[in-house]
Amino acid sequence: MDRSVAVNPLHDSEDGYQKVDHYNPRTVQRIAEKYKEILKDLGEDPQREGLAKTPERVAKSLQFLTHGYDLDPAAILRSAMFREEYQQMVIVKDIEIYSLCEHHLLPFFGKAHVAYIPNGHIVGLSKIPRVVDAFARRLQVQERLTVEIRNCIQDTLQPLGVAVVLEAQHLCMIMRGIQKQHSTATTSAFTGEFEHEKTRSEFIRLIS
Ligand SMILES: [Zn+2]
Repeated sequence: MDRSVAVNPLHDSEDGYQKVDHYNPRTVQRIAEKYKEILKDLGEDPQREGLAKTPERVAKSLQFLTHGYDLDPAAILRSAMFREEYQQMVIVKDIEIYSLCEHHLLPFFGKAHVAYIPNGHIVGLSKIPRVVDAFARRLQVQERLTVEIRNCIQDTLQPLGVAVVLEAQHLCMIMRGIQKQHSTATTSAFTGEFEHEKTRSEFIRLIS
């Protein structure tokens, strides 16, 4: 796959997290060429000063916004798993999400709240937002993003249960005037203990 985003190998890549630093010049070039055509089709002059570098900027920006394809979220979790007998709910809430809707290539953004109940292993708390980000930085729909985060944590950490709630605003709804401004979409996905009403409502209470 040659959409390849080059990464800085010095940046802790063993834990599956790689910072995007620079881009394959040929990929940038190819995407930029197409954006020049798009600007013309929109009735613009791609040569004028303000737009001269826009195709290249957009090419880099799009690659950054989809760099999650180059990350391995399970590896991010495995890099910081520790044996621990703690069996209470662990919650990481208000994780910022920025993603792109795959239907319109417009941003959706908001908050993720993630909880799990350990079953012999805990994971470094900073890894949860990284997992969220690794899935969010792809072309997505909010529903799939929610389930992918849940499944990754469930399959990798094998806890007694996982809960994921996402609240997001979609610019494709807001800017295109389809729904009221500022309306928020909420999605959720649960496994194990969180399938039980009592545990689930405790989680909902703790995040609200
Ligand atoms: Zn959309």
